[in-house]
Amino acid sequence: MSQTEHRRARPEVSVIIPVYNEEAGLRALFERLYPALDALGADYEVIFINDGSRDKSAALLAEQFRTRPDTTRVILLNGNYGQHMAILAGFEQSRGDIVLTLDADLQNPPEEIGKLVNKMREGFDYVGTIRMQRRDSLWRRKASRAMNRLRERITRIKMTDQGCMLRAYSRHIIDTINRCGEINTFIPALAYTFSQNPVEIEVAHEERFAGESKYSLYSLIRLNFDLVTGFSVVPLQWLSFIGVILSMGSAGLFVLLLIRRFIIGAEVQGVFTLFAITFFLLGVIIFALGLLGEYIGRIYQQVRARPRYLVQTILEQRDGETVAGAPRQSVVQAVQPAQTIDQGPTR
Ligand code: UDP
Ligand code: MG
Repeated sequence: MSQTEHRRARPEVSVIIPVYNEEAGLRALFERLYPALDALGADYEVIFINDGSRDKSAALLAEQFRTRPDTTRVILLNGNYGQHMAILAGFEQSRGDIVLTLDADLQNPPEEIGKLVNKMREGFDYVGTIRMQRRDSLWRRKASRAMNRLRERITRIKMTDQGCMLRAYSRHIIDTINRCGEINTFIPALAYTFSQNPVEIEVAHEERFAGESKYSLYSLIRLNFDLVTGFSVVPLQWLSFIGVILSMGSAGLFVLLLIRRFIIGAEVQGVFTLFAITFFLLGVIIFALGLLGEYIGRIYQQVRARPRYLVQTILEQRDGETVAGAPRQSVVQAVQPAQTIDQGPTR
């Protein structure tokens, strides 16, 4: 029998959860997630993607797989590829007609999943979310709002709240995303560009249950760069526009200085003004190079056509086989690396 024949019929709902160093909160997540999904009255599968955690997360996920092998699958990536790449790995393994993404930190309450599923059943193919009373630090909220506005201008992607990852997508969107092979991407935006009938609903937002945000200021800035350069060439267009205006301005200034030199004579003090202008232009050039680099970097990554990530193990149950079969071997394989890490000091 081929591998696909082994697989069970497609569930209605797939829930994709990326996990990176979430050992402190995983148990609480399992306790709330599974009852919420059982209450849906739908066939479902939960796909956890361990994004190279350096704590006990992988072992905890393997344990959960053993508790609920019928509905749980665990993908262990061999390194840390970032939240969006982890979700992409989950998408490729997902089989559901409705695919939901969720954070592992319980900031998106699993009890809200029902709302999204109902909306999808109404016939929408993309359910975005807006966080009611967002529970994040003030600066994070302010920065998000500013970024959101800028992004909307540049990319024409309409999302009231780009940051909330509790979202639902239809099978056709997921299939299209799987075909994309994008490397640096922002999933909600990518999905939005493929959706035909999107809708947004309000969902509750909670404080992180345990641990701290895995996003540093740096990775947040990176993510927003991905979002802007990945979905628009407007910055490039702005750049050429700015370039034209600047060069016209400097040409005018040069003519002015030339005329002045012939009429009044050379001015010594003016040297400093020239310095200032030169430095300003240097700054502009460096900025321009950086921006060009963004695009060239993307081209470079895309043309290399490397595998986007490597899956170490997949814990899943196959039809007609008990857990004692091949999957158990996978469990053993999967648990080992996590245990080895447990013993060592945390990096
Ligand atoms: N995450 C991940 N890989 C990373 C960073 C984060 O898989 O490199 C996961 C993390 O475990 C969580 C989700 O992505 O499930 C969102 O991360 P986090 O809560 O730290 O982000 P925030 O809520 O601060 O935006
Ligand atoms: Mg979070």
